[in-house]
Amino acid sequence: MTYLQARGVVRSYGPTPALRGVNLDIAEGEVVAVTGPSGGGKSTLLHCLAGILRPDAGEVRWRGERIDTWSEAARSRLRRSTFGVLFQFGQLVAELTAAENVALPLLLAGTGRREARTAALTWLERLGVADLADNRPGEMSGGQQQRCATARALVTEPRVLFADEPTGALDTLTGEQVLTSLVRLAREQGTSVVLVTHEPRIAGYADREVVLRDGVVDHGGLGLETPLAGG
Ligand code: ADP
Ligand code: ADP
Repeated sequence: MTYLQARGVVRSYGPTPALRGVNLDIAEGEVVAVTGPSGGGKSTLLHCLAGILRPDAGEVRWRGERIDTWSEAARSRLRRSTFGVLFQFGQLVAELTAAENVALPLLLAGTGRREARTAALTWLERLGVADLADNRPGEMSGGQQQRCATARALVTEPRVLFADEPTGALDTLTGEQVLTSLVRLAREQGTSVVLVTHEPRIAGYADREVVLRDGVVDHGGLGLETPLAGG
C-alpha cells in the first residue's frame, strides 16, 4: 500500500523556491534514496514528508490522509508515534548515556522505565554497540554515536524512518556499515525509509532512487532541463 504521497508540493524560503511541485509515492516497506545536487531541495522535501515543514501548496498524505493541513501538535504526535527521524549528526543528548538516549522516545511515549531500558539495550545490541550502553556521547566515536542515534530512531519501530545524510559525517567505511545496519533492520520490520544523500554509492542501498534537481523530481527525460525559448 502507499504510505506517503506528495502531490504538487511547493515550498519556498522567502523568495527562494526550494520545491517547485514535487510528486512522489513511497510504498510500505520501500527504501527510497532522495539524491541530487546540493540545494536541489532534498532536505526540504524530507521535512515536508515528515510533517516538520508545511508546504506552501500541494498535498502530503500519510496512508491516504492529508497531514499537511494538520496542526503542529497533531503532526508532532504523528512524528513521535509513527515516524522516526535521523540526522547527519545524531543529536544525542550529551548528559545522557547511550541507553538513556535510546530509551528516551519510549519514555516520552509513556513506556515504563524497565521496559524502555530493556528495549534500548536490545536496539543497542542490534546496532552492535551494546557494550557502550552506559557511555555518554562524548565518550563515543562518531560512528558509535550514529549507531546509537540509529537505535534511538528505530526503537519505537516507526512505520517510516526519515534519514537526512545519516552517514554524511562519517568516513566511508563506517558510514557504509551504519547504513547497512539501518537498512537491514528497517527491512526486517517493514519500515519504509526515506534516505537523503548526495552520495550515489549510498543510494545503491535503496530500492529506488529519486533525483531532485532545482526543486523538482528529475526523471532524466530528454529536454526536461531545456528552458523554453522566447518569453
Ligand atoms: P538539499 O538538501 O538538496 O541541499 P535544501 O532543501 O537544503 O536542499 O535547500 C533547497 C534550497 O532552499 C536551497 O537553495 C537552500 O539554500 C534553500 N534553503 C534551505 N533551507 C533554507 C532556510 N532555512 N532558509 C533559507 N533558504 C533555505
Ligand atoms: P543538510 O546538510 O541536511 O543538507 P544544510 O546544512 O543544508 O542541511 O542545512 C542545515 C540547516 O540550515 C537546515 O535547518 C536548513 O533548513 C538550513 N539552511 C539550509 N540552507 C539555508 C540557507 N540558504 N539559508 C538559511 N538556512 C539554510
